[in-house]
Amino acid sequence: MDRRRFIQTASTASAATLASMLPIADLHARVKAGLDKLTQIPQTYDAIVLGVGSMGAATCFQLARQGFRVLGLEQFDIPHELGSHTGQSRIIRKAYAEHPDYVPLLERAYENWKALEEETGTQVYFRTGLLYCGQSEDPFIKGVKFSSGKYQIPLQALSIEEAGRKFPQFRLPHGFERLLEPDAGLLTPERSILLYTELALRYGAFIRTREKVRSWTRDNGGFLVKTDLGDYQAKKLIVTAGPWAGSLLPGLDRHLTVTRQAMAWMQPERWDDFTLGNFPCWIIEHDGRAFYGFPILPAGQLGGPVGLKVAMHYPGGEVTLPDVVDRRSRKEDEEILVEALRQHIPGAWTATLAMKTCLYTNTPDKDFVLDFLPGYEGDVVIGAGFSGHGFKFVSAVSEVLSDLAMKGSTSLPIGFLRASRFS
Ligand SMILES: Cc1cc2nc3c(=O)[nH]c(=O)nc-3n(C[C@H](O)[C@H](O)[C@H](O)COP(=O)(O)OP(=O)(O)OC[C@H]3O[C@@H](n4cnc5c(N)ncnc54)[C@H](O)[C@@H]3O)c2cc1C
Repeated sequence: MDRRRFIQTASTASAATLASMLPIADLHARVKAGLDKLTQIPQTYDAIVLGVGSMGAATCFQLARQGFRVLGLEQFDIPHELGSHTGQSRIIRKAYAEHPDYVPLLERAYENWKALEEETGTQVYFRTGLLYCGQSEDPFIKGVKFSSGKYQIPLQALSIEEAGRKFPQFRLPHGFERLLEPDAGLLTPERSILLYTELALRYGAFIRTREKVRSWTRDNGGFLVKTDLGDYQAKKLIVTAGPWAGSLLPGLDRHLTVTRQAMAWMQPERWDDFTLGNFPCWIIEHDGRAFYGFPILPAGQLGGPVGLKVAMHYPGGEVTLPDVVDRRSRKEDEEILVEALRQHIPGAWTATLAMKTCLYTNTPDKDFVLDFLPGYEGDVVIGAGFSGHGFKFVSAVSEVLSDLAMKGSTSLPIGFLRASRFS
């Protein structure tokens, strides 16, 4: 099947689900209509969520569903292309190499993604399987195996022959391990954020877009939040401002570094070999670099661009700031990605169809910060520093943030993500 027909018919293994799925443009229009209705809003709230992107939209949902009066403030539209959530797809995996303590959070994240799908009747998680490739002594490969062993997460070690039969698209060096995590896959970020926003509105959240938070201060036993359009009061604040978090979190700003990350969408030799249902998500660790990619997705339902997506996770991108970052595509970014494909997935590139820039917000140890802001214990909650691997946790982190704000604690294990580890 050629590229045009795939985009039009979305005829893959998940064809039935995809065909019945509301096109993303229609979902976007529906959510925008819901947001536009909120012209007159109250001034006082139980909680204000500063930044309605990945974590913020889901946190508004969590709070509103429990009956709290919540305001979400977003400086741009929902979703948008200037923060950390643009780009159609995000990997979700459970045999977590970065730190085994993330696994219990991931168990909850999988449950909560399923709950979102059930409540909205819409698929956001696609179980494609994830192929990890790298040398046995590579720390990431070691970490994957450690977490898989510790938490009994299914992981299949494939021989060269098995890998060749299952995934003939790859050409991997001898000496590489090939590990398949069958329950891993991808999430669709823009669609998920829209769905969480829509649900939050349905449960009574107030959400303002194109309204930038300028400052927050203690006021009358609560907080006063000033935006470029008005003033609001709340008992609790939750800061989920992504790459802008530093500007709203005094003291934590020096521990957050924003980097510019490039993504590319490629035209492969044979479109069919790489479509959803025919190709897995993958991560290849080679010579200190980590490349990753996704199958081709139907852009009409899940958002664009069209093509076979590939990106590099590390070494990290150029250090920058979100309001000045160079968002243009660069030849050198493209060349690194094309070369990785030539080496490892030879049929994956004949032309580059699109490139995009996205932002990571990194902590020194690349682990998140889920905690109260030091000096504001019990009142100001931080969800920041997601270091390029946070999206899969959105459904669980939002529960943590709302628990911290409204109950003062959470039953989910976040001890290793405290802000105090930097002091
Ligand atoms: C290229 C790339 C690839 C990635 N791949 C993966 C992956 O495969 N798997 C995975 O799990 N994760 C991945 N991630 C990471 C994941 O996308 C992020 O961790 C996650 O999106 C961070 O969410 P956030 O809510 O912190 O930021 P955002 O989604 O950017 O939300 C922050 C929001 O706050 C708003 N805001 C900020 N300041 C203000 C203000 N003053 N007033 C009002 N609003 C404000 C912003 O406009 C924005 O909408 C990737 C990230 C990138 C960039």
